Amino acid sequence: SVTDRTPLIAGNWKMNLDHLQAIAFVQKLAWTLKDAGHDYRDTEVALFPPFTDLRSVQTLVAADKYDLVYGGQDLSAQDSGAYTGEISGAFLAALDAKYVIIGHSERRSYHNETDEVVAAKVKAALRHGLVPVICVGETAEDLEKHGPSAVPVGQLRVALEGVPADADIVVAYEPVWAIGSGQAATPEQAQQVAGALRALLGELLSADAAAATRILYGGSVKANNIAGFLREPDVDGALVGGASLDLAEFASIVRFKK
Ligand code: PGA
Repeated sequence: SVTDRTPLIAGNWKMNLDHLQAIAFVQKLAWTLKDAGHDYRDTEVALFPPFTDLRSVQTLVAADKYDLVYGGQDLSAQDSGAYTGEISGAFLAALDAKYVIIGHSERRSYHNETDEVVAAKVKAALRHGLVPVICVGETAEDLEKHGPSAVPVGQLRVALEGVPADADIVVAYEPVWAIGSGQAATPEQAQQVAGALRALLGELLSADAAAATRILYGGSVKANNIAGFLREPDVDGALVGGASLDLAEFASIVRFKK
């Protein structure tokens, strides 16, 4: 049932905060959530800092036993070798990363990541025991041409090729037109696509996987609109960009109870 899925609030910092800023931010966030009596069993909080911050975040979280998890914003499809500038899933796993974002629209558009590249990266994440947060979403032009669900469903179909039925994954529906635009989708729009994505999980993986997998909405999520998204039956959390860099705003998003 829906209540079996622990809501996940994920903060995608993108290329913001160096490792010193990250330490200060994570400490303050942990204190803020604790002061507010945040019950971590109710909502999982995941942070996605730049790669160069991860070691610092790991040390802090482990030392102070913060109930926060973290992951990379991307990874290589390869495991090791002559791939200058790439980061292996093995390195993320060695830093106790739980998650890795794959196929964010900024990777797709600025780094030419195709659905096939995304699929290879999903397999790389699973090889290293990381939970892929698979991002899908349509542009404004796609929406006009193909309607709401066709493009994200098509992207997920390719991303899941060869993925085992019992794989631990998260799906993030992020309409490109809603990212960083201040123009979030409506809860009804998010639900429509999340429902279609869940149906696809049932078709490609299993009924159990469809019931267990968390589907996030992302795109201009703020403290004042999170409630509407979490009220929808197929939306299990949010991938938050800009608002994840504002401590008070992000803490309010996290504290919202489904
Ligand atoms: P935004 O970004 O919250 O700033 O719209 C979301 C994302 O890109 O994951």
